Amino acid sequence: MALGEFELIRRFFAAAACARPGSGVTLGIGDDCALLAPPAGEQLAVSTDTLVEGVHFPRNAPPARLGQRALAVAASDLAAMGAAPLGFTLALTLPEVNANWLQDFAQGLDTMAQSCGLRLVGGDTTRGPLSLTLTVFGSVPVGQALTRAGARPGDLVCVGGTLGDAAGALPLVLGERSANEAVAGPLLSHYWTPPPQFTLGLALRGKATAALDISDGLLADCGHIATASGVAMRIEQSRLPLSDTLRAFLPAAAALEAALSGGDDYRLAFTLPAEHLAAVVSLEPGVRVIGQVLAGEGVCLVDEQGLDVTPGQRGYQHFRERP
Ligand code: ADP
Ligand code: MG
Repeated sequence: MALGEFELIRRFFAAAACARPGSGVTLGIGDDCALLAPPAGEQLAVSTDTLVEGVHFPRNAPPARLGQRALAVAASDLAAMGAAPLGFTLALTLPEVNANWLQDFAQGLDTMAQSCGLRLVGGDTTRGPLSLTLTVFGSVPVGQALTRAGARPGDLVCVGGTLGDAAGALPLVLGERSANEAVAGPLLSHYWTPPPQFTLGLALRGKATAALDISDGLLADCGHIATASGVAMRIEQSRLPLSDTLRAFLPAAAALEAALSGGDDYRLAFTLPAEHLAAVVSLEPGVRVIGQVLAGEGVCLVDEQGLDVTPGQRGYQHFRERP
């Protein structure tokens, strides 16, 4: 490596604007540990995500967009918990030191970090096949974290915005299809830079009874809330918010499938007593009610006549149990 490990860390990461110390970070990059200081009376929320080249993003992915996506995907878990952003660490495994690649990657990471208010506080740098592990830290007042357990029969089932855009973008990401800029632009930007819904997550504190971010597909992820809460969920197909660009790019059945099972949305899904709906929508106008929580178990999808149209396949799993 022409550039040594410490020089690489200093030049691309410790020197980034997002690595400056600030509130909630007592000590950042450079020592054996970082020191974080959540506000008094708050708990630390922690989540890790790994992205492996060829599995979670395509080979030769544009590095600036990859840097943004890696952090957005990780930060989304904090938003889903109702946590306010504090900091993150980056464990980076690289096949080689390519200064141009690192420059662009670090710039993308810094852009997303600054837009989320997350400080880079440490990491690790190793050689091997390209992979990124980001651990994010947030803070939430004791007792106010939005867990998956807590949904109650009678609550509304809501989502934070349109569904299926990132999954719909996959053929564009993989270069299997092309589209004009008016269609490709918004779909690709939802895949590469899904904005973590921090404003919504904070607004849901003390209101939502359960929440998560949709990473594996709406039905699979709603299934996690149903199981953790010991309830059933009924989702109305006609209420699913699909963007105009997704509808323009895919036939209706494929757009619906992307919204139900595609994954990579990073929108929040949550259950909410109806009395809080107006307050939440006024803060996040993209919020849509898509169904109801019922007594029982499982998630079902119904059409406009109320007929059960639940598909068999529910989201992506790396290791699927075999019957
Ligand atoms: P140690 O050997 O004590 O684990 P390292 O030599 O791996 O420390 O790293 C030196 C410092 O640089 C530490 O503060 C570590 O958190 C930080 N660091 C290492 N790699 C990265 C990276 N990719 N991004 C940000 N900080 C990093
Ligand atoms: Mg180390």
